[in-house]
Order: sequence, then C-alpha cells, then structure tokens
Amino acid sequence: MVNIREFSVKCGNCQTYQTLSAYTRVGEYNVYSYECENDICDVEVTRTLVEVLHEIDDFANRDPNWRGGGKHGAHGDETSQE
Ligand SMILES: [Zn+2]
Repeated sequence: MVNIREFSVKCGNCQTYQTLSAYTRVGEYNVYSYECENDICDVEVTRTLVEVLHEIDDFANRDPNWRGGGKHGAHGDETSQE
C-alpha cells in the first residue's frame, strides 16, 4: 500500500515543498495535484500530478475526511466500485 502523505513533493523551480491541493480519480488511478504556494511559481506551470493506483492507495481508502474532488464517500468500502 502507498500513502500519499508519506511523500514530499518538492518543486524543481523554487525548491520548496508543494502543497496537496486537489484529488480526483481517473480510471484506475487516484490523481493528486500539488502546487507551489508562493509568488515565485506560476501554479499553472509548476503543478505536479501524482498518480497512484487506486487499489494500492491507502490514503484514499483510509481518510474519508479529505476527499478533494473525490466522489466515493463510503469509508471502509473496500469492495470494487465497478
Ligand atoms: Zn515552485
């Protein structure tokens, strides 16, 4: 399992850590968006997208309180969503 919160995403342009700003699910993947929170970078240019296979994404399965753009609200629903 992978927990996205165990990762740090650092911007190669401004050398600061980016902030998790959005979450969405695309097919088999959970896609997390990270953005710089400063005046140095244009977020439209430096935004980072991290894709995690849904089935190994511990964070999305475990933390129902932070859903971003997520649509599945059921906590602990480990069954297939097909
Ligand atoms: Zn930056």
